[in-house]
Amino acid sequence: MNWDEYADWGKHIADWGAQYHKTLRDRPVRPATRPGEIAAQLATAPPMKGEDMSAIMADFEAIVMSGMTHWQHPRFFAYFPANAAPPSMLAEQLVNTVAAQCMLWQTSPAATELEGVMVDWLRQALGLAEGFTGVIQDSASSATLSAVLTMRERATGYSGNREGLSGKGHLRIYCSQEVHSSIDRACWVAGIGQDNLVKIATTGPRHGMDPAALEEAIKADLTAGHNPAGIIAITGGTGVGGSDALGPVLRVARAYDLYTHLDAAWAGSAMICPEFRDAFWADVDGCDSIVFNPHKWLGAQFDCSVQFLRDATPQLNTLKIEPEYLKTSGEAVTNYSEWTIPLGRRFRALKLWFLLRSYGLEGLQARIRNHVAWAGELCEAIRALDGFEITTEPILSLFSFRCPGGDADQQRLVDAINVDGRIYLTQGAFDGRKIIRVQVGQFDCTRADVMAVHHVVQEVWEQIK
Ligand SMILES: *Cc1c(COP(=O)(O)O)cnc(C)c1O
Repeated sequence: MNWDEYADWGKHIADWGAQYHKTLRDRPVRPATRPGEIAAQLATAPPMKGEDMSAIMADFEAIVMSGMTHWQHPRFFAYFPANAAPPSMLAEQLVNTVAAQCMLWQTSPAATELEGVMVDWLRQALGLAEGFTGVIQDSASSATLSAVLTMRERATGYSGNREGLSGKGHLRIYCSQEVHSSIDRACWVAGIGQDNLVKIATTGPRHGMDPAALEEAIKADLTAGHNPAGIIAITGGTGVGGSDALGPVLRVARAYDLYTHLDAAWAGSAMICPEFRDAFWADVDGCDSIVFNPHKWLGAQFDCSVQFLRDATPQLNTLKIEPEYLKTSGEAVTNYSEWTIPLGRRFRALKLWFLLRSYGLEGLQARIRNHVAWAGELCEAIRALDGFEITTEPILSLFSFRCPGGDADQQRLVDAINVDGRIYLTQGAFDGRKIIRVQVGQFDCTRADVMAVHHVVQEVWEQIK
């Protein structure tokens, strides 16, 4: 392909993209495709001769697009959002075009410096104290793994990387029962082990970790000769939004010298609204590491996960490695690949710059405030449906409910709603029962989109009950 053809196709694809987004509301959120149907339409071997872009593009529309779940659909209420605001998409196109490797300052000076400034813009936007620095990672899973490795190294006098873990006893990490599965996996791959991730019972209306139970667990572990290494706190758990009271958890952390990582992957974005901070983020500045995903609620195209560090030194002592071929000479600079597990890094800061400048904090705050308010209204409408029960009250814009009947009826309703296609919901579990989750957070959803959940739930239930 030559560059003139590239330019023509680039314009064509930009037009296609605008049309796709303008007509998204008319499509079902999930495709009506069965497993294997898409693969069956693809050639089973790579072509020997090159093909025309027009043929490739035609197949993209006919085959690929008939099998996509539309994450940018305004009536997507499943999981958590993966918002991609248009300015962040434009930035991604530029990043794709320049295609730089942003591992060292020298390999990407502007990307490195923009990353430092964007992390600081977001620090201010979230109300975090001066002094926090940070790094942009691909996912919260990677940031949490970095933090767990740091806990491991810190608790072993930075000997784990060199000597391995054998003979070092049981390192212990504490979290609530409401954490995301990425915490379990970080403990698996860091060599800590599932059995050494201690899950503390939750309490109170926000389903936060019980600090007294946390302290008891730590004391029992010390008595047993184990090595407490860290705490993973959460703001906005995936199931029902479980959020720890940070002050009491951090008091225990300090008493036992435990490194504390906070997973706010979803809910962190809402902290750009100062009115939510008292309830969720009092004392947040005491955390050693904090992760949140601008690629979820905030609007930065996937992937974009920011990890803030109160002091970057422990993580750098854990992850920094400098073979001869990565050494650079000259003035002291930041090389972000020393802060993370992968060496190669995308230029993720550009989409944050485009997003934040294009909407301003006020534009982004207004969206999040609407989502929280509309989730509250929708919750009341569903509460009023005959025989329906609200199983967890809204935490920011996430709540859950049950229809009349048992667990099988909940799944039956979710499946029927998703076949209907006007909205997309997913199930979860709470207190040993199946629940139906609703989160409001799609970037361009309207109040009417949100209230449509009430009508669709009611209609579909009437059909299947
Ligand atoms: C989405 C989510 C994660 C995982 O995020 P990735 O960026 O996909 O790794 C972790 N924790 C919470 C609370 C989440 O909502």
